[in-house]
Amino acid sequence: MLMYANEELQALYQEIVQRNPAEPEFHQAVAEVLGSLGPVLSKHPEFRDDRAIERLCEPERQIIFRVPWQDDAGRVQINRGFRVQNNSALGPYKGGLRFHPSVTLSVIKFLGFEQTFKNALTGMPLGGAKGGSDFDPKGRSDGEMMRFCQSFMTELYRHLGEYTDVPAGDIGVGQREIGYLFGQYKRMTNRYESGVLTGKGLDWGGALVRREATGYGLVYFVQQMLEIRKEHLEGRTCVVSGSGNVAIYTIEKVQQLGGRVVACSDSGGVVHDPDGIDLALVKQIKEVERGRIEQYVVRRKRGRFLPGASIWEIPCDVALPCATQNELNGKDALALVKNGCRIVAEGANMPTTPDAVRVFHEHGVAFAPGKAANAGGVATSALEMQQNASRDAWTFEFTDRRLGDIMRGIHQRCYETAEEYGTPGNYVNGANIAGFIKVARAMLALGVI
Ligand code: GLU
Repeated sequence: MLMYANEELQALYQEIVQRNPAEPEFHQAVAEVLGSLGPVLSKHPEFRDDRAIERLCEPERQIIFRVPWQDDAGRVQINRGFRVQNNSALGPYKGGLRFHPSVTLSVIKFLGFEQTFKNALTGMPLGGAKGGSDFDPKGRSDGEMMRFCQSFMTELYRHLGEYTDVPAGDIGVGQREIGYLFGQYKRMTNRYESGVLTGKGLDWGGALVRREATGYGLVYFVQQMLEIRKEHLEGRTCVVSGSGNVAIYTIEKVQQLGGRVVACSDSGGVVHDPDGIDLALVKQIKEVERGRIEQYVVRRKRGRFLPGASIWEIPCDVALPCATQNELNGKDALALVKNGCRIVAEGANMPTTPDAVRVFHEHGVAFAPGKAANAGGVATSALEMQQNASRDAWTFEFTDRRLGDIMRGIHQRCYETAEEYGTPGNYVNGANIAGFIKVARAMLALGVI
């Protein structure tokens, strides 16, 4: 299949597909980035000569390991653990851990690849990595979670360190899991090395705002997209898919800024509440009870639960996909356009399929890719690392202000780069090109390693 006008990139893509068979998510993430790089190679022949793209597409290290553990019934369970250390030109490897049955090497590789560009865009000294397991936390007891995390870390700890690789959370990994992982790391190494993991609890080295950061940062980015159009969030109708950490704090910030979120979801279906989602109730169900979003309508009679429905059929001005990869396809994009949606920004990693992105671009919908719009999470992880390194603890207001500044910086970098390379308003090109140039320059400076 011919994807690029540029023959060189086409050949390169083909080679990457052949070298990495059966990894569709990784191919998709690579294809999206290569689609932006044609003009960069023309302007910067040094990146071609030093094979910067090929190097970026070959992770520095890929670790796959067995994770054996015992469930509450005493049965032995076996899962597979992964850590893909994609690139460390800008700093120690950094990126989350995902515990979900859909996790494969392809998923972790695409996430590690994306993370490298995202982390570069933040302007912080961070390399890129991702890890996780095909373990399903759904229905597991606290004891099972702890034993699984301990077994996972018993293998992974030798590859980590505050100057080596610093994991955090992602889907299925929150503060509870980071606690069990940190505890086991501390026990194995006999070191209280706070900076080895981020997303920690406030009592043991965690930072204020880290929990809220991805969602808040996403909304700060959307504010910038609106400001350029001389608009604001107040009075706008928003739809936020998902109901995990990213979705919850996205909804919170939209509501604080006067927007109305009318729907959220989980894998079981969609809650539509035209009067505005009751966030306290969502937090109770998801953060405290670890339950299903279906519970919302049992307790709040005004809402409707639509099992198995597409959330993108609900009319909105701003759509914020915050669940998982490939959750918004071409058909969904057409429904959003038809209903008047004008802004889409990704809170999740690669939730929008390539044909959906095409639909948005064709219809003049402003579209922000996750590697720019959801970078507030990892940027605030870098702030947590700064606090750990200086044994300090900053206030909520100070940290939140820094997050706001970082998101404004990312927006500006993407916006200006898109303009410089002849595609004004195209945040996909802006993010891919700005992220690539930053990492590629550092790679070249460090020699052939
Ligand atoms: N998992 C988050 C992401 O996709 C955060 C990573 C981190 O804080 O290291 O960016």
